[in-house]
Amino acid sequence: MTTRIPHWVDGRRHEGTSGRTSPVYNPATGETSGEVDLASVEEVGTAVASALAAAREWRHSSLSQRSAVLFAMRELLHSRTDELAAIITAEHGKVLSDAAGEIARGLENVEFATGVPNLLKGGYSEQASTGVDVYSIRQPLGVVAGITPFNFPAMVPLWMCANAIACGNAFVLKPSEKDPSAALFLAELWKEAGLPDGVFTVVQGDKLAVDALLDHPDVSAVSFVGSTPIAKYIYERGTANGKRVQALGGAKNHALVLPDADVDMAADAVVSAAYGAAGERCMALSVAVAVGDVAQPLVDAIAARLPKLTVGDGADPDTDMGPLITAEHRDKVAGYVDAGEAAGASVVVDGRTGEHPQEGFFLGTTLLDHVQPEMTVYTDEIFGPVLSVVRVDTYEEGLELINSNQYANGTAIFTRDGGVARQFQYDVQVGMVGINVPIPVPVAYYSFGGWKDSLFGDTHMYGPEGISFYTRGKVVTSRWPDPATSSVDLGFPRTR
Ligand code: NAD
Repeated sequence: MTTRIPHWVDGRRHEGTSGRTSPVYNPATGETSGEVDLASVEEVGTAVASALAAAREWRHSSLSQRSAVLFAMRELLHSRTDELAAIITAEHGKVLSDAAGEIARGLENVEFATGVPNLLKGGYSEQASTGVDVYSIRQPLGVVAGITPFNFPAMVPLWMCANAIACGNAFVLKPSEKDPSAALFLAELWKEAGLPDGVFTVVQGDKLAVDALLDHPDVSAVSFVGSTPIAKYIYERGTANGKRVQALGGAKNHALVLPDADVDMAADAVVSAAYGAAGERCMALSVAVAVGDVAQPLVDAIAARLPKLTVGDGADPDTDMGPLITAEHRDKVAGYVDAGEAAGASVVVDGRTGEHPQEGFFLGTTLLDHVQPEMTVYTDEIFGPVLSVVRVDTYEEGLELINSNQYANGTAIFTRDGGVARQFQYDVQVGMVGINVPIPVPVAYYSFGGWKDSLFGDTHMYGPEGISFYTRGKVVTSRWPDPATSSVDLGFPRTR
């Protein structure tokens, strides 16, 4: 029996009428668990019309009313984490503790947004000119859309919607069609938290729905997270239509391991960050750059850890690593391992032959050594449980390798030398840097985003830059002169 997964419009589930649906799988069994509606252009129009009507009202809500809704949402997300984690695991495949982890990191964004009365404070300059005061305010944009990837079905929508709603906008979410149910659960929580109908909308769909949002004149801004080619497309089409767009793309994150690093600590960190969520994280470490003598001990330490990882159903508490999202994706990842081997990389641990359930979309952990920068396992984002080790002779060579990459989302250095670590954070051309921290996802009161082909647009996501993205600045210059002093003056106004 498959479940129908509908849209969420006007504060309730809304069955699609387009006649188009897409299968949703349980990746641990390979079975079809649901059919998600795929919106037509007309259905997107209906959803945006509802959001626009809601936005016109919501912008008048007081900051304390918005804050109260966010506090209620915070409590609900907290108390219902287990239910949401189970929904995520059933459609994405990641282990339950990892699903709970993404909810916790999403929750941080709701907590940040509860401070909206403080975040939207403007500036005030008394007596900017004689008898003239100047102040700045920030106002909502109206209807803003979020288009999100499969790999974080709760956290990435929360990166966007908490701040968008706190700033007085209505938010239309187009989640990934591969794991769409978490979005509906979030919608139900927003309603229970007291958010007026229409302020949070879910349009299920594929490219057709995305294009309809990008072309809709009543959508003022688009936040996107996904792969680089689509991010670039979203940015170009959205901005060509006059919209504000932030589009976060793919990644190839390097760990630079120096000879003085604690090898066991570095191996623990690299294994956790490379294979967590089966490598389906934009902040996964997919390349370990081993400098000098550390290479062989590091490869040995990583290889020793991999057989101890249990690959299986993410709903089983004993599982360390779940399946990949689809059979096609699993085959694509395995194809990269084939290509790496054919190009001369050493397969130290082979996930293609690893022990894992035969049903479902499983692939074991792969460790490739002696990877060269021209191999596709190095050049491409694989998004699977594959770690490539590139051996270099010096720190400078490692830095140059990282800085030459087209992607620049995250990176991490492992060393005991504070001076070198500081030099690395200063020199590296990457948006998010960890020092002995393998997955440096910024906390919610900073902002998230990479450089180069990992981000199109000027604003990073969430945190202070999120508040700025979802509002427009206005500056008011005022005076209350004595009418007796009034006169005509055609000169350009000067401060006096
Ligand atoms: P994806 O680009 O295939 O899909 C993302 C969204 O775009 C989905 O909602 C999808 O329906 C839509 N989409 C797909 N093809 C489209 C098209 N041709 N036209 C319009 N819309 C389209 O990404 P994914 O496979 O869901 O997610 C994995 C990717 O996301 C990886 O590349 C990963 O690095 C990236 N990611 C990046 C970040 C970040 O913060 N930079 C975070 C998470 C994931």
